[in-house]
Amino acid sequence: MSVYDVAVIGAGAAGSATAFHLANAGHRVSVLEAVEGPRIKPCGGGMASSVQQWFPFDLSPAVDDVIRQVDFSWCLNDPVIAELPGEAPFWIVRRERLDGLLLEKAQEAGATLQCPFLVQDIDRDDGQWTIRSACGNTLKSKAVVIADGSASPWSGQFGLGPRDLHLASTLSVRLDGLGTLHPGVARFEFGLVHHGFAWAFPLNGGINVGVGTFIGRNPMDAETVLNALLPDLGFPADAGLRQQAALRVWNGHSPLHGNGMVAVGDAASLCDPFLAEGLRPALMSGCEAATCLDRWLRNDVPSLADYTTVMRHRWGDSMAWGRRIAQVFYRFPGVGYQLGIKRPTAPRRIAQILSGEMGYGDIAQRVIRRLLLQRG
Ligand SMILES: Cc1cc2nc3c(=O)[nH]c(=O)nc-3n(C[C@H](O)[C@H](O)[C@H](O)COP(=O)(O)OP(=O)(O)OC[C@H]3O[C@@H](n4cnc5c(N)ncnc54)[C@H](O)[C@@H]3O)c2cc1C
Repeated sequence: MSVYDVAVIGAGAAGSATAFHLANAGHRVSVLEAVEGPRIKPCGGGMASSVQQWFPFDLSPAVDDVIRQVDFSWCLNDPVIAELPGEAPFWIVRRERLDGLLLEKAQEAGATLQCPFLVQDIDRDDGQWTIRSACGNTLKSKAVVIADGSASPWSGQFGLGPRDLHLASTLSVRLDGLGTLHPGVARFEFGLVHHGFAWAFPLNGGINVGVGTFIGRNPMDAETVLNALLPDLGFPADAGLRQQAALRVWNGHSPLHGNGMVAVGDAASLCDPFLAEGLRPALMSGCEAATCLDRWLRNDVPSLADYTTVMRHRWGDSMAWGRRIAQVFYRFPGVGYQLGIKRPTAPRRIAQILSGEMGYGDIAQRVIRRLLLQRG
């Protein structure tokens, strides 16, 4: 049996980005994906255009809209309308097309795809990994990339990512037609959702609506939220394709590498715990993991520890503050809306954070102090 340099488990945004960069660097890569064909994933598709810098090919075929204006509301009232600064455009991608594009580029660069391949067992012996599928197929590799998303059993099993998982509870709806939403306009609703928020992002001929709660353990009553939100957006309350998902969000600094193994994207719990931004860290971690694996496979470095270090510096340090902001904001969202979202500088700050121009650390202490003082 031939031995691959790298087996990538999961062909989502994180896995396919990793596979592209590794194959492009000349490594033998096999991507193992459980589910065949494009499918609608529970994802709003909001993504800063700054991610383009990490790819030598054009991502625009996956882009359905460019956001220029953000409308905020509190219980469907008290609107705040904000123009986004031109220098930090925010894209809405169709997830199925983004994942397909990244995978196609990885295959063009030389990666092979095995699908359906539902990974059921991963073993290390004699410095090599053996990966088995539910159907009894086997593959051997020098390194493994864990990229199987929020439900990954492997990151925990191999001690990658936070020991205590923090799960945001989400419901997403894909709708045909724009309803009352306009192209180029994203909508965020606070107040209707206990401990979280709802969003509506325009696609070309449709919209993605999502509801998420970010703190607390009580199950979210998303249907009640949708009963109010969907008619406000111009749709019947029961419209659209609905998908529930438990989303792993960042929950503390933790190792993201092991011996010949790394975790990327949701499997590594990288998603922003305040705004649920998961695509940028998925793509960033894919690129950084590939850079580190490339050096390790060439014997330039003895371990994959640099990957954990770089992700902590580039992402985790900001998320540590994002987590603190989420804990205060979602406990006192009314105060947060009045003192945070309604500030004239807020939309620009949010855009700068989502584009990577700023980290939460740059604003956190002021934001938290303001929220706590006002509450007192
Ligand atoms: C409702 C909702 C809305 C969101 N909106 C946004 C947004 O607007 N912007 C944003 O940036 N982020 C958003 N996110 C977060 C974002 O969707 C995730 O962070 C992103 O999907 C992470 O990509 P990934 O590649 O890590 O995981 P995934 O996209 O989940 O990919 C994992 C892949 O692994 C495969 N797989 C799983 N198990 C196995 C196995 N055993 N063997 C083989 N393959 C396997 C799966 O089939 C899947 O294709 C949202 C999330 C939710 C739930």
